[in-house]
Amino acid sequence: MATINDNFLKLKAGYLFPEIGRRVKAFTEANPEAAESIIRCGIGDVTEPLPEAVRQAMHEAVDEQGVAETFRGYGPEQGYEFLRQAIVDHQFAELGIGADEVFVSDGSKCDSGNILDIFGPGNRIAVTDPVYPVYVDTNVMAGNTGEADGSGAYEGLVYLPCTAGNGFVADLPKEKVDLIYLCFPNNPTGAVATREQLKEWVDYARANGSIILFDAAYEAFIQDPEIPHSIFEIEGARDCAIEFRSFSKNGGFTGVRCACTVIPKTVTGTAADGSRVPLHQLWARRHSTKFNGASYPVQRGAAAVFSPEGKQQVAALIDGYMGNAKLLREACQEIGLKVYGGENAPYVWVACPEGTSSWGMFDQMLEQAQVVITPGAGFGAAGEGYFRISAFNSRGKVEEVCRRIKELLG
Ligand SMILES: *Cc1c(COP(=O)(O)O)cnc(C)c1O
Repeated sequence: MATINDNFLKLKAGYLFPEIGRRVKAFTEANPEAAESIIRCGIGDVTEPLPEAVRQAMHEAVDEQGVAETFRGYGPEQGYEFLRQAIVDHQFAELGIGADEVFVSDGSKCDSGNILDIFGPGNRIAVTDPVYPVYVDTNVMAGNTGEADGSGAYEGLVYLPCTAGNGFVADLPKEKVDLIYLCFPNNPTGAVATREQLKEWVDYARANGSIILFDAAYEAFIQDPEIPHSIFEIEGARDCAIEFRSFSKNGGFTGVRCACTVIPKTVTGTAADGSRVPLHQLWARRHSTKFNGASYPVQRGAAAVFSPEGKQQVAALIDGYMGNAKLLREACQEIGLKVYGGENAPYVWVACPEGTSSWGMFDQMLEQAQVVITPGAGFGAAGEGYFRISAFNSRGKVEEVCRRIKELLG
């Protein structure tokens, strides 16, 4: 008799995006004439095509695979040197990160979930509220939590509320925690952390022997030159942090799949016998046992993001999305809504009008404006009273969304 991992049964069935899908489907079935005018600003997926430089590099790599002399089979599990070195040169220059501390993968979602393989049981784990649901659900699957309560919060996790009061940057926990998930620029709130705020987190982690899992998937959207792009810009982070980077949102790789995890060799965890073990060593073993490397054409495409043309093309994509974010911010502000985020991130985080819940807002926007937004409550209890608008869309659609929001709520 094969038993199952019972932890999966603790997962809340009504996960956010399926529930959004269900409501959109119900609406379009009841109102087929309105279905065509629906504009999706919900799921955080890019909409613009892959940069030309990336496509060209991928085409060339595919052609190399068609010739015996240049054909490549299994590559290094950790990623090709040409890509790891390019990542270090262009994203971690002068931060003391070596190419051998970079692990190339097929996505940050998998990395941020799989990383739990190398941590033991019994860790106190802190997540923000609202939160990217992957951090929570992977801890549930790993058996690091108890059951969920009525609001969807899991027993055993430490939730750090992010509110207008703290500028959506979590305060340090009052208790001691061992693992801390931070995501800046943040999904869903669009908030960023200053150097001083990140320094507090690094100091806390070093004082308590904790590890910061830093998700920098949206670093390319930072406009303010004072805001750090990497946790490794903070002194001491090389002793206590792991960083996740992805080509999904800057290079438009959500369908192509490439990312990396950076683990300095100086970050350690404690073994059962009390000795300190480098996490790098464990992840290297895990990665090479359970993963056979991202595909060669994809890694060539990713490296092309750092070519002069690639950089220009990525900058144009980011400018386009950030222009969208500005329009969405202004439209919401114009009708008197309180607006956060959207200045260093592709997400605009908006307070619902007085007396409207976030799912109420979702239904109203869908039914009366045919605009799909994401209800804040879907990201955690502290997201109640807010909704997220994604700036990942064409300019034309964003302008139409602005028009409809102003008409509906203005
Ligand atoms: C989009 C996103 C990622 C990127 O995930 P991939 O698997 O690399 O596509 C990572 N973290 C957050 C919070 C995201 O929103």
